[in-house]
Amino acid sequence: MYYKVLSKKSVGFLLVLSLLVSIILIINLGSSNKSLIAIKEKEEKENFIKYAEFNIPFEALEKAMNIDIDLHEEEKKINWIDVLSFLAAKYGGNIKEQYNPGDMDTLVKKIKEGETPEDMAHNKKLYSYFHEVYSAVLGEFLGEYSIQTGFDENNEPIMEQKYGLKVFSPIAKGFPYQHYDDFGNRRTYGYSRPHLGHDMMAATGTPVIAVESGIVEVMGWNQYGGWRIGIRSFDKKRYYYYAHLRKDKPFHKDLVEGKIVKAGDVIGYVGRTGYSVDENVNNIKTSHLHIGVELIFDESQKECDNEIWIDMYAIAKLLAKNQSEVVRSPEDKHFCRKYDFTEGNLNQ
Ligand SMILES: [Zn+2]
Repeated sequence: MYYKVLSKKSVGFLLVLSLLVSIILIINLGSSNKSLIAIKEKEEKENFIKYAEFNIPFEALEKAMNIDIDLHEEEKKINWIDVLSFLAAKYGGNIKEQYNPGDMDTLVKKIKEGETPEDMAHNKKLYSYFHEVYSAVLGEFLGEYSIQTGFDENNEPIMEQKYGLKVFSPIAKGFPYQHYDDFGNRRTYGYSRPHLGHDMMAATGTPVIAVESGIVEVMGWNQYGGWRIGIRSFDKKRYYYYAHLRKDKPFHKDLVEGKIVKAGDVIGYVGRTGYSVDENVNNIKTSHLHIGVELIFDESQKECDNEIWIDMYAIAKLLAKNQSEVVRSPEDKHFCRKYDFTEGNLNQ
């Protein structure tokens, strides 16, 4: 009897004990799982590109772009970003000095024979790094789009479907400008810093064009940029910054924060505002457009100590191949694009 009672008691005790142990185990397992997931998430989140430069020479950009466009209808397409990433990896990043058009020809020949740039790349890590950087910069430059070519008998726009360069020069067609590679030059207003953009010298009032379609993220006054506009690409990876716009009438009349703009739209006018805490002050000597492009691989990079701004010189030369034609309204004196344009990502 005594034995039985004891046995019942100990069985009960053991049951309670094992239940407790299981609960503790489950709780521990749960929390360690949770912390593991948190660590993994943190690692994944921080595993983004933190440094990049864009130093592909214009000649390489142009040649690769033409190959991509020329072979677009063919069965064996060639992606210009693959080609440029392969070359950058081959030259260990120094594509600016080592670029040799013959290397691109050899590569293209091999791709046509069925090889892939990724398989051919000796340094796969470097290839995938450059591929990610160049995709962030150039990913939306080429593609399908429709552009107006005129009007039919009912005065309806005639749209033509094309494949090619669908980003525009920041300066409207027919307006003169001068530029050179001034990325990284010293600037001293406020504090000494490198010039993180590209200056295009043009007369005050020259229409400024949206390079790529996107959303107006900011517009207004900034003591460095003066009247400026910030436009974010739809994929969020590029932030276009247009600065020193015209005193008194800096922006196109239709522009507001949050508005969607199309590549080729008039967004503002060249001027020489900036370098002043007071608004609407012309403190820049020479009238010019400052255009900058910031790459954003992770939203934490948008405003930080290590922002990635790229050299736009070669890109500006490429964009000169696609300038937006504008017309001036006699009523309000504002310029507008002459030919309508549409592309896939505008309908999302
Ligand atoms: Zn500048």
